[in-house]
Amino acid sequence: MSNLEAAPAELACRGGGPYTGGVEVLTARDVPLGGPRAMPVRRTLPQRQRSLIGAWCFADHYGPDDVAATGGMVVAPHPHTGLQTVSWLFAGEIEHRDSLGTRALVRPGELNLMTSGHGIAHSEVSTDATTVLHGVQLWVALPDSDRHSAPAFGHYAGLPAADLDGATARVFLGKLAGLESPVPTYTPLLGAEIVLAAHARLSLPVEPSHEHGVLVDAGPVSLSGTRLERSELGYLPPGSVTAELANLTGDPARVLLLGGAPFTEDIVMWWNFVGRSHEEIVAFRETWEAELDQFGRVEGYQGTPRRIPAPPLPNARLKPRSRP
Ligand code: MN
Repeated sequence: MSNLEAAPAELACRGGGPYTGGVEVLTARDVPLGGPRAMPVRRTLPQRQRSLIGAWCFADHYGPDDVAATGGMVVAPHPHTGLQTVSWLFAGEIEHRDSLGTRALVRPGELNLMTSGHGIAHSEVSTDATTVLHGVQLWVALPDSDRHSAPAFGHYAGLPAADLDGATARVFLGKLAGLESPVPTYTPLLGAEIVLAAHARLSLPVEPSHEHGVLVDAGPVSLSGTRLERSELGYLPPGSVTAELANLTGDPARVLLLGGAPFTEDIVMWWNFVGRSHEEIVAFRETWEAELDQFGRVEGYQGTPRRIPAPPLPNARLKPRSRP
């Protein structure tokens, strides 16, 4: 997934800091992803109100889309730094290619985790077999100690899942409900898909030192008493010992539960880059535009344009913002 905003703002995201209060509702904004018919996605992170939940720093929710109408996902090669991409599908199939030479198919219920380290490039295209495309793409900020590491790609199937009382959970990162993902993380993280039966209520013990977000794919649901509509992200601050989920409908509901230790480093996000300073972002952009080796080359991508050019930088440096 690429940030295809024509004039993306540079966001200085301040980590850490306590937050006290109830569930905060983060509403999505619609962003055209690009491709032939500008497939729309609903973005809840980052936004002015909140930039990070743990190290989760980006959340796009899309579909279910009729690919015949939207054109599906067609994202040409583009770069990343300082982050991991988490691709998670509910329906459809995406072909991923990257500058490590990886070609992988992203399928529902399987985790595809790309670590940019100091630089990687990739393309993402929904396959011809896909009629309905439905999923999320999430980014995880890498801590300063690991963000200059070598790029990597991992595909994980057979993730731990369990039937809970009136719900099922599949854990792709971290630990929940006695389940533990085998996938290593750079900071303490949780990522799980939870399907709630009609009118089901579920009290999930969560790590009290972590903050959590509930991204609603199908709802509405309530999170610890606060109603969340489809595509909204409910933020549960540190200090909570449980996440109280309730399906408010007579149909199955589905959410992603994201969590992690509050990320205490200040980061600067612009376009597809995560860095630590304005100067670093400028250098990443120049390196991509000059087609230098930092990001490598994606082989086998058939579309046009051949690669996504970086948008212009904002004229002004934005001042760092505090967490609420
Ligand atoms: Mn991407």
